[in-house]
Amino acid sequence: MSTVQCMQCRECGEQYEKQPNHVCEYCFGPLEVVYDWDKIKQQITREKVERGPDSMWRYEALLPLDSPPTVGVNSGLTPLVRAHNLGKKLGLNNLWVKNDSVNSPTLSFKDRVVSVAISKAKEFGFEVVGCASTGNLANSVAAQAAQAGLRAVIFIPADLNPAKVMGTQIYGAKVVGVTGTYDDVNRLCSEIAAKYPWGFANVNLRPFYGEGSKTYGYEIAEQLGWRAPDHVVVPVGGASLITKIHKALKEFEKLGLISEVHTKMYAAQTTGCAPVSTAVKNGWEMIRPVKPNTIDKSIAIGNPADGYYAIQTVNKSGGYAEDVTDEELVAGIKLLAETEGIFTETAGGVTVGVTKKLAEQGRFGKDDCVVISVTGQGLKTTEVVAPTFDEPVVISPTLSDVDRIAGTLG
Ligand SMILES: *Cc1c(COP(=O)(O)O)cnc(C)c1O
Ligand SMILES: [Zn+2]
Repeated sequence: MSTVQCMQCRECGEQYEKQPNHVCEYCFGPLEVVYDWDKIKQQITREKVERGPDSMWRYEALLPLDSPPTVGVNSGLTPLVRAHNLGKKLGLNNLWVKNDSVNSPTLSFKDRVVSVAISKAKEFGFEVVGCASTGNLANSVAAQAAQAGLRAVIFIPADLNPAKVMGTQIYGAKVVGVTGTYDDVNRLCSEIAAKYPWGFANVNLRPFYGEGSKTYGYEIAEQLGWRAPDHVVVPVGGASLITKIHKALKEFEKLGLISEVHTKMYAAQTTGCAPVSTAVKNGWEMIRPVKPNTIDKSIAIGNPADGYYAIQTVNKSGGYAEDVTDEELVAGIKLLAETEGIFTETAGGVTVGVTKKLAEQGRFGKDDCVVISVTGQGLKTTEVVAPTFDEPVVISPTLSDVDRIAGTLG
């Protein structure tokens, strides 16, 4: 059943048994899951994938579980939407939106990584799971822990969006606000994971968690009719997703499921927290950590765990990186909503804003296939757009009142 061979250090190549651990004890490099590709080849064909299930688990052979998933069985296989209207605005004839704002169960791309991490936590026998989170991960860990019958302890920066805090507590999770930035929370969680027998989705379970992100890339290729796009624009926080989308496309190429991949990867960040974008623009190989200062919380990570690999992915693929101001991100949220009827959260506004900027810079051919990664739901961050609207006009339930204002309506 399982196609996993072992775990391996990405830097020195040291091999490890499958275990809840994310760092190499020799060189402190990140551990990765290693697969048996002969086994995978026997288990995966286009036809088998297309037979289902209608979720990310159609790619189960490429995910690191030993037995079928026990939670998140409905996650993934979100719509890939042809964005004609937005495309017209941006001068792009072949524009698509991969829409994880409607992912199951908690309306963000994190449902993919968490369904793998929590299923894996159950396999390892953890009774308590947790995470360091900027919000969406918290929501998903809390919900899927509830589904799995595990206890959840969630650590977040104390100033998170109210909907994301309540959207975690509702599942019965214990939520701890930490004074400081996400980077402070994350460092604390590494220390906690070393001391308490808890499975942290993005700390000691991170090698498994990250693999869940690949399904976002697999789906894009399958939904385009088994083709890799020319360009993918991705919001970058901890920088796992951008590297894994590219890895996913390369894996499909290796399996002969799609032809050669020439997809260029673009990192999208806010100007108030742009460690990856700044590094790419300046030609640096390493991240210089920053202190976030932006209304966006979901990708406000000043010292991204996979930042170095994200820079490599962008550069090697021939892509680029850009960042937008808070005003531009709000405009991005509204532009997507008004053109495509999709309400995304701050990270999605960043991605749309950056795509507009990249298009204006002439980085895409007008007939190139461009995919915008929409990763989260706008109803979770309404406070960033609310101040830009007036209160709705109020009338009495009479036709004469309608007549009075009709000129301003249609
Ligand atoms: C976590 C998150 C991201 C960034 O993902 P990384 O893998 O940490 O770079 C992007 N968008 C949303 C909505 C997220 O919650
Ligand atoms: Zn190592």
